[in-house]
Amino acid sequence: MAKNVPNIFGSMVFGDAVMKSRLPRDTYKALRKTIENGTHLELDVANVVANAMKDWAVEKGATHFTHWFQPMTGVTAEKHDSFIVPDGKGQVIMEFSGKALVKGEPDASSFPSGGLRATFEARGYTAWDPTSYAFIKDGTLCIPTAFCSYSGEALDKKTPLLRSMQAINEQALRVLRLFGVTDAKRVVSSVGPEQEYFLIDKDMYFQRPDLVYCGRTLFGARPPKGQELEDHYFGAIKYRVAEYMRDLDEELWKLGVLAKTKHNEVAPAQHELAPIYSEANVATDHNQLTMELMKSVAAKHGLACLLHEKPFAGLNGSGKHNNWSISTDTGINLLEPGNTPYKNAQFLLFLVAIIKAVDEYQDLLRVSVASAGNDHRLGANEAPPAVVSIFLGEELTEILTAIENDALYTGKDKVLMEIGATVLPHFPKDTTDRNRTSPFAFTGNKFEFRMLGSTHSIAGPNIALNTIVAEELSQFADILEASSDFKADLNKLIKDTIKNHKRILFNGNGYDDAWIAEAEQRGLSNLKTTPDALPKFVEQKNIDLFTKHHVFTEQEMHSRYEILLENYAKIINIEALTMVDMVNKQVVPAVLSYESDLARLMNRKIALGLNMSTVLEEELLNKLAKLTACLSGRLEKLMSEIVAVKEIDDALELAKAYRERVFMAMGELRLTVDELETVVGSKYWTLPTYAEILNSVGQ
Ligand code: ADP
Ligand code: MG
Repeated sequence: MAKNVPNIFGSMVFGDAVMKSRLPRDTYKALRKTIENGTHLELDVANVVANAMKDWAVEKGATHFTHWFQPMTGVTAEKHDSFIVPDGKGQVIMEFSGKALVKGEPDASSFPSGGLRATFEARGYTAWDPTSYAFIKDGTLCIPTAFCSYSGEALDKKTPLLRSMQAINEQALRVLRLFGVTDAKRVVSSVGPEQEYFLIDKDMYFQRPDLVYCGRTLFGARPPKGQELEDHYFGAIKYRVAEYMRDLDEELWKLGVLAKTKHNEVAPAQHELAPIYSEANVATDHNQLTMELMKSVAAKHGLACLLHEKPFAGLNGSGKHNNWSISTDTGINLLEPGNTPYKNAQFLLFLVAIIKAVDEYQDLLRVSVASAGNDHRLGANEAPPAVVSIFLGEELTEILTAIENDALYTGKDKVLMEIGATVLPHFPKDTTDRNRTSPFAFTGNKFEFRMLGSTHSIAGPNIALNTIVAEELSQFADILEASSDFKADLNKLIKDTIKNHKRILFNGNGYDDAWIAEAEQRGLSNLKTTPDALPKFVEQKNIDLFTKHHVFTEQEMHSRYEILLENYAKIINIEALTMVDMVNKQVVPAVLSYESDLARLMNRKIALGLNMSTVLEEELLNKLAKLTACLSGRLEKLMSEIVAVKEIDDALELAKAYRERVFMAMGELRLTVDELETVVGSKYWTLPTYAEILNSVGQ
């Protein structure tokens, strides 16, 4: 296979090379113009493109096409249409029109819209995003599309992402022009998302209704051996897992996904895959595809891939590291410290813009990673805290401090840091003490936002990042464009920004409790759970931000807020119902049957009257009696909470009630069940245990 990689890479993608070879020159040029400048694609051009696409797809065995989009459910949606058209003589021909390529009308009444689209006018439409190439998946030509209502409101995750990319493009270009950069025509945001996941045996998976319905285990006593030996991290990859990874890489490469790195993670059965970074919207599409393929390839290998943020209590959860940078179409990474004073001034300005953005919009970054699943992770073992802060590394922090105080930079070069006059001292890109506990870390020429949950679409966090940085750049551009002394004003701007926003900088251990206390003193926000975070989204300052940059309308924001709240409540409701079901159908019968065997044995011993000891049976029965009484009370409590919260109408109050009442009752019930698991004989316990699940993949 190794020799073939260049051949199979992108073989299922209608990418640039295919376009060039299959389209007439004029059509190709027109299409490239659309891709690069976002100009409108004329219907006659679209017709030619569609036809070439169809011919190519049919040669590759495709029979259907679909507009592939990302509604607010967080997963991708597709509705397949075949290419067939009757030829009038009882036969069919394969056809695909420009109209069908450019626009689709899924009957979308069942997608969440947060009240944006009343069901009586349920038809939203999908529109091709030509900046993300079409591809073939399972015999279907998939066309990446945006999904909007007829009145133009975004109903998906791609539309606002594209708008946010446009916002940062415009504002970053304004700033670049001030530095005399005239050749760059576009600034793009790039993302490399590192994706974590668990792999377990498919049979184990199907024996656990909680995994099937909720993606995480709702019960499970600790295994005798967890991750404490830390022998799994970067450990040798098991044969079955290696086979899986090989297959997954190959499927991803065919789709043009730049799958690059794979390794074992800290928890047993946990792994990671990272691609090489690409433009934010392509990276988003590719990450969705990656998550989808992780699951479908697993099924082919008799495995199940768990993407949930916390499949197993007591073990590390799964996250996603969103590596983000901005660069020009001429290939200059704007977060790369330069090697001339002038370039450095530019770098410093972009750097402080990001510092200011993260400080002023901590809440938005927190909201962008808020979900029921991620609540298990943020602040827990090995996950960044719910407090947002920036890690810059010691050297860069010292440089900023020196600038702020007009002081000598105390690094080995001992220089006075004069912006625009001094070359930045060379600081190592990857210092060995790289901080893995920071939610937002500068790693040489990019920022790594580490709070994302493993199931999240990366669209949300990148919409937030692009927009908040665009806002700061626009403020800076306003000041500097009006300046009569560029150098002096630039200096002042950088210094003032450091002074006003340095509270967000923190290089220490983000997992430390002392930091949480200090963060509070610094006035940083600590939005612990999803219901705490979500209301921030619709605060006036954030509405002003998103509407100013045309990323969301106010109405779109309110609808998203509603969807997120509802989603949170629904997830906890499903988990609670699954829990009740599992207790009734699996836990209680297991306990009762063990109890009854014990009681029978004890009675038989007594009946025989041979002076046999029944101490053990009695002790066990006593213990079980106490635990079952507790179980019954806690089960009752959970069931009544599930019913009681249904009375609440207000979406925020409902989400809070699910958190404070239902979720809490679930936690209590779990404790009892987990204790029972350790008491009841394993032949009675029908649910696979943590030890069995985590070691299910074999050698
Ligand atoms: P790790 O964080 O695991 O040490 P790396 O830092 O090498 O790994 O890369 C992690 C991810 O960051 C990869 O997906 C990589 O492609 C991406 N990345 C590297 N450079 C950039 C950049 N300039 N912009 C965005 N992502 C980047
Ligand atoms: Mg990383």
